[in-house]
Amino acid sequence: MEISHIEHIGIAVADLEGAIAFYENTLGLKCYRIEEVSDQKVKTAFFQVGQTKIELLESTAADGPITKFIDKKGEGLHHLAFAVKNIEKQLEEVSAKGVQLIDSKPRKGAEGLDIAFLHPKSTRGVLTELCEKR
Ligand code: ZN
Repeated sequence: MEISHIEHIGIAVADLEGAIAFYENTLGLKCYRIEEVSDQKVKTAFFQVGQTKIELLESTAADGPITKFIDKKGEGLHHLAFAVKNIEKQLEEVSAKGVQLIDSKPRKGAEGLDIAFLHPKSTRGVLTELCEKR
């Protein structure tokens, strides 16, 4: 696997507006984009922190993954996203090493990135996302 940097850190929030206000007013970051990803049943808000982004995730559906996550674990760190090149090849490589994939093929995520998730059971409990900007 060749990872260049942490692309973003995903944080599950119950109330996107309130969370944006915290990141802006308390942490002094600026939200530069809000985007709904209907495929994943989430509304996202992005903050740039150096080379890395913070991605806040609010559920848009009662049966969405973020609703389930918050019901189980509460608000907080949801996933870690690594920037890679040639995402298909990276997926093949980690799969060959026994990592269970949630997405065997990349799909479109927020900001037009190609993304794929690795199962937290295979990654020491951290939901891990690979992303590639093309
Ligand atoms: Zn993400």
